[in-house]
Amino acid sequence: MRLSAVVGLNWGDEGKGRMVDLLTEDCDAVVRYQGGGNAGHTVENELGKFALHLLPSGVFRPGVLNVLGPGVALDCQSLLEEMEELRRGGVCITPENLLISERAALLLPWHRQEDALEEARLGAHKYGSTVQGIAPFYGDKYRKKVLRAGDLRFPERLEEELESLLEWKGLGLRGLYGAAAPTAAELRAWLRDYAEPLLPYLGDTGGALGELAASGGRILFEAQLGALRDIDCGIFPYTTSSHTLASYAFTGAGMAPGRLDEVVGVAKAYSTCVGEGPFVCEWRGPEAERLREEGAEYGARTGRPRRVGPMDLVATRCGARLQGATHLALTKLDVLGCMDRVPLCTAYTLRGAETRDFPYPALLDEAEPVTEYMEGWRCDVSGARRWTELPEAARRYVRRVEEEVGVPLGWLSVGPRREQYIRL
Ligand code: GDP
Repeated sequence: MRLSAVVGLNWGDEGKGRMVDLLTEDCDAVVRYQGGGNAGHTVENELGKFALHLLPSGVFRPGVLNVLGPGVALDCQSLLEEMEELRRGGVCITPENLLISERAALLLPWHRQEDALEEARLGAHKYGSTVQGIAPFYGDKYRKKVLRAGDLRFPERLEEELESLLEWKGLGLRGLYGAAAPTAAELRAWLRDYAEPLLPYLGDTGGALGELAASGGRILFEAQLGALRDIDCGIFPYTTSSHTLASYAFTGAGMAPGRLDEVVGVAKAYSTCVGEGPFVCEWRGPEAERLREEGAEYGARTGRPRRVGPMDLVATRCGARLQGATHLALTKLDVLGCMDRVPLCTAYTLRGAETRDFPYPALLDEAEPVTEYMEGWRCDVSGARRWTELPEAARRYVRRVEEEVGVPLGWLSVGPRREQYIRL
C-alpha cells in the first residue's frame, strides 16, 4: 500500500501507536497531521517501552522520515523533552529523519495556562481536558493569533508580531480570568530556549511528501485520538479541537488531496474513554475495576484511570463509517482472556426504541446499552501468532465483531509488543 492512514475508531487510546510501529516496517514516511502533545501513543519494541506524544511512531525505524505537518499543535517545549527522552533510550533523531512544517503554529506557554484556568472556571462542567493547551491553541490559530514556526527565521517581523500578540493575550487573560500574561522578555526567552532549537528541522512538508508520493514512496498518516473526538463529527463538546479523521490527513500534512489506499481503523476489544462526556457502555464497580487492572487502563499522558466498558459496536460502527476504514485492527484481545463470558454492546435503547445507529450527541445521556454476552475463552492468547492458534470462543467473538462493524479484519493484536499480533 502506498498511502495509508492509521486512525482510531473510538475515543482514543485504541492502540494506534502500536499499530503504526508495526506498519512502519514498509514505510518511507510517517506523518502526524493533527493534534499536539496530548497524545499518548505507547510503543514497545527492542529498544524498550516509550510513550510518544508528538513525535510520529516511525522514529524507531531507521530510514523512515518522520513528519509533523502544519495541522499539528507544535508544542516545542514538550517536543524537545520527548526528543531528549528518546535519545536517552538510544533512538536517533536528526534533521535527516525528522521534518517539521515551517507552517505549523506554535503552542505557546499561555495556552496551557488558559486550558487550566478554563477547566477551573467550568468546575463541575469541565470538559476533562488533558490541560496541554490544545483547545486554546486551536482557538487562537483559527483567530490567527499565533506565531508559526517559520516566523522564527524573520526576527524583525517576529518581534512586531510578538508585541501585538502579547498585548491581545494580556487583555484576554486579565479580562476573563484576572490572570497575567508573560512579559515580552519571558516570551523571548521561551522562544530562544524551546523554539529556536527546532529551526534545523523546519521545512516544507507538503513539498517533501508530494515528491515522495510522486516517486512511489509509501506514506503512513498517523492520527491522534479517535473518530468520536473529531471536532466536527464527534461527541461535541467532549471532543478535541482538531480533526481526528483520515479525511484530514492530506490537509494536515500540507499536501494536495489524494486517495488513501488503505485506512486502518483501530479499535480495542473492549471500550475505554478518558475524561468527561457521555460513554453509554460504561461499567462501574468491581467488574470495571477488574477490566481496568487487566488492561492497565491508565492514561499515557496524565496517568488518569480510564473509564471502561464492553466493546461498543454502535460507536465503533459510527467510527468506522466516519473514518472510511478499509481494514479493522482489533487490539487487546488478550485482556478479555480473564472473563468467563465476554460482553458486547450491540445497540442502544433510546426513548423506548432500540437503535443500532449512533445518535446526535445531546441524546447520548439518555441512551442505555443493550449488552449481549458470548462465551469466554478463559486463557492467555498472547502467544498466538496464527488465527488457528486461537481458541474457538475467541475466534467466534472476533468474527462477530468484524461482522457487526462491517469492515474486514486485517490485524488482531494479542499483546503490546511488536511481534504479538495475528495478520489476517
Ligand atoms: P494509542 O494512543 O491509540 O496509541 O493507544 P495507547 O498507547 O494510549 O494505549 C494502548 C495501550 O495498550 C498501550 O499501553 C499499548 O502498549 C497497549 N497495547 C496495545 N495493543 C495491545 C494488545 O494487543 N494487548 C495488550 N495487552 N496491550 C496492548
